[in-house]
Formats: sequence, structure tokens, C-alpha cells
Amino acid sequence: MGSTSRFQICCIGAGYVGGPTMAIIAKKCPTIDVTVVDISQRRIDAWNSEADLPIYEPGLKEAVMNTRGKNLFFSTDIDGAIEKAHMIFVAVNTPTKKDGLGAGRAADLTYWELAARRIAKVAKSPKIIVEKSTVPIKTAEAILTVLNASGKTRFQVLSNPEFLAEGTAVRDLESPDRILIGGNLKDEDGTAAVEKLVDIYSHWVPRERIITTNVWSSELSKLVANFFLAQRVSSINAVSALCESSGADVDEVSTAVGLDSRIGSKFLKASVGFGGSCFQKDILNLVYLSESMGLKDIAEYFHWVVKMNDLQKERFVSRIIHGLFNTVTGKRIAILGFAFKKDTGDTRESAAISVCQRLVDERAHLDIYDPKVEESQIWQDISTASKMDRLELEKLIHISSSPYGAAQGSHALVVCTEWDEFQDLDFEKILSIMEKPAFIFDGRNILNHEYLRKLGFVVYAIGKPLDP
Ligand code: NAD
Repeated sequence: MGSTSRFQICCIGAGYVGGPTMAIIAKKCPTIDVTVVDISQRRIDAWNSEADLPIYEPGLKEAVMNTRGKNLFFSTDIDGAIEKAHMIFVAVNTPTKKDGLGAGRAADLTYWELAARRIAKVAKSPKIIVEKSTVPIKTAEAILTVLNASGKTRFQVLSNPEFLAEGTAVRDLESPDRILIGGNLKDEDGTAAVEKLVDIYSHWVPRERIITTNVWSSELSKLVANFFLAQRVSSINAVSALCESSGADVDEVSTAVGLDSRIGSKFLKASVGFGGSCFQKDILNLVYLSESMGLKDIAEYFHWVVKMNDLQKERFVSRIIHGLFNTVTGKRIAILGFAFKKDTGDTRESAAISVCQRLVDERAHLDIYDPKVEESQIWQDISTASKMDRLELEKLIHISSSPYGAAQGSHALVVCTEWDEFQDLDFEKILSIMEKPAFIFDGRNILNHEYLRKLGFVVYAIGKPLDP
């Protein structure tokens, strides 16, 4: 490990956020030593391996390989890393609690509190603690109370939410729209801690893109940013239902609307629905916070974004069943894509899970293909979502290692993830190996529908009439 006379950063949590974020800090700040720690030996071993890293992100492997062992280290020695660190990022998972009194769901801060208690126990010198995980408003305050209870040393807690998107994590980290740092700016030590973190990001981020706020604004901004992004997807998906019933084309509508510079074109793509570990979790957290503040109508407003997403997935499945002559029982259906979006192997809250679970409930036979998701992950996700046991599921589900294998003998192709490679498939070949009539349900509107119809497919797309 690096010399202790250099500035030492530790990051607790070597996941989708901790790993890539620290790799980029190490790359951009060669004079700083960065140690990423985790309770999972398996994850740390994978970060230290010569083969595949534990997560797939374009550009990540190069960033890790160029810094690992120089000023970037992965370890399970959590206490050792805490002890020598000047600054500790906490990027542990903050999942949603399963139950709640209202529609909202609080964030489960168990892992955060365990990390904070560990820091409090081990730390002997002053430390700056950086909230990287997405947490509810006032978490920093609660964490400071836990940290200060030991009375051994002084802590500053900063909020520095992460806005990276999976699939483009390296690009987002290297060229962020903004860096948000919340701290106690009324206090001299608080301001100094904020300035220290500003200094680190200033190695590669223009100063005007680094904004500093009070802690609560920063904590809330992360939840609100995810709400706005998801809200745009749910809004255009609501419009897609109108389009399917009226003859309008949702892609034409979103282009026309998005060209208004006040609205903008990003996140206006209709689809089977958003997924990922963050949107639903963070919105349900906003709903919970609103409910706990007695703001019932506001909570309901936030909640509709999640309800609309569930509705969209259900509408998509209904369209598949309806299209296949009102029954999918015993029919083979090829599922193209299982990750929640392209360029990641992450399946958390993926729309594909709901689609597969619903089709399996109807006793369809699924053949699933995804270029990056591991077979064991697909089994785990479907087993968790379905009421059926593994033996029953094995009779209904097969996982293929190629899209052609999945398409062989199927009545329909269902696109659940927008992988680029799906646009380049040999559809003449696919048509020849499918049952007829051959259906395509494009849940991401990425295929050339006109061409596919000319070939002889029956094509259903999101927000488009069946026969344009
Ligand atoms: P993740 O599950 O991939 O990683 C979290 C890691 O923390 C796991 O490896 C786990 O073993 C480890 N961990 C948990 N408790 C620990 C402890 N006490 N000590 C040491 N290690 C511990 O999660 P993630 O996707 O990286 O998300 C982390 C946080 O960042 C969450 O709050 C999430 O909402 C937020 N976030 C995620 C994304 C994203 O795209 N994934 C984007 C922005 C923000």
C-alpha cells in the first residue's frame, strides 16, 4: 500500500459507485492514495483479478489496470484503511425497506450505520466523512451523532451524491455535469472540509461545475434529480398509451416536444419502463419523506411516477398476450436483453424481470439472451420474482448464449434491453427459424420496424399503431 505521508482516501463499499468513482479519483489524482474496502471478499478478489472486474462498464477496466497497485488498492482490511485515511467516502448500498405504513418506503440505512459505527470505533485522528450513497435528508446529522458518540476524535460529514449513470459511469465521472458538495458552511472546520473535497475534484473538474450547498439541499437534490429523470420517462410512457390508441407516433411526438429548448430531448424515449437500482428506490423514499412530513398530496404526486412505470410494464405484457391471439400458454418467446439498460450487466429492477415473470405466470416458454448478464443472475432474479419453484421454472425457461439460439422455434421476439447489437441482427435468418406468423414486440423502439414489416414480421412497438 502507498506511503502514509501522502493524502489518504478510503472508500467503504466497492460496488457500482465505490469502484468506478475511486478508480477515476486515483487516475486523476496521482499524488493521492485511494483504498477501496468491502465486507465482500468475493467482490474485492474480483476487483484485484486479472480477468473480469466485478462490474462491466465501458472504459473501467483500463482505468483500474492503469492505477491498481500504484495509488489504487482494493482490500478487505476495513479497519486498517479507516485508520490511515484522512477522508472516508461511504458508498454502501442503501436499499428500500420492504414494508411501510403508506405508499412510501424508507431507505434502509443499516449498512450505513454499521459503516459509521466501525469508523467511530477505529478512528483515532480527525476524519472527513463523505456521504456517497444516496440517503434521505438529515442522514448526515444522524451519522454525525453516531460518530461523535465515541468522543475520541473530530469528524466532519459532507454530502457528495453521485450522479453517474450505469453504462456511462466512466464518461460521467470524467466529465460530470456538476459535482455537488454539501457541508456545514457556517462553521470554519465545515468550510475547510468542503474546500478539501473541492480541491480533489478540481484536479479534473472545472471549478464552475463544482457547487457547494448546505448538507440538506445536497441530500435532497439527489432524490429530486432521480425523480425528474424518472418523471420524464413516465410522462412520455403515459403519452405512448395515447399514441397506441390514436394513431400518433410517440417517437415523432417526443422529437417535436423535445426540440423546445425549455423541455429538451433527453430522457424522452418511450419504453417498456425504467429500471435500475435507483429510480424506484429514491422516488419511494421521496414518497416516504413526504408522508412522514404530513404532505399526503405531494407524496401521491411523486408516487404516480412509479405507478405509471408499473402500468407501462403491465401494458407491454398485455400487448404481447393480446397480439399472440390472447394466449401465450405453451408458446416459445425469445427475450432479447435482461439488463435494465444497455452497456451494463446490472439487472436490479430491470423491466425484463417483470415481463418474464408475468409471461411465465401465463405458462409461456421463455428463451432469454443477454450479452452481459450472467446466467446465474437471470435464474436468481426470476426465481425471486416468481411464485413458482425452481423445478417448475426450469420447465419454462431456457437461457441462450446467442440471439439466434433464443429465436429458434419461437413465436415472438421481445426486446427488453436496448443493446446496440440487436439492431445488427440478421433478421432474414431469424424469420426463417421462427414460427409463423413471427411477431416482434420492441419494448425499446430500437429496431427498424418498416424493414421488419417488409420482411414479413408482425411488429408491435411502444407508442406506435400496429399498422402505421
Ligand atoms: P452496490 O450494492 O453495488 O455496492 C455496495 C457495496 O457496499 C457492496 O459491495 C457491499 O458489500 C458493501 N458494503 C455494505 N455494507 C458495508 C460495510 N458496512 N462495510 C463495507 N462494505 C459494505 O451498490 P451501488 O450500486 O454501488 O450503490 C451504492 C450507493 O450509491 C447507493 O446508496 C445507491 O443508491 C447510490 N447510487 C447508485 C448509483 C448506481 O447507478 N448504481 C448511482 C448513484 C448513486
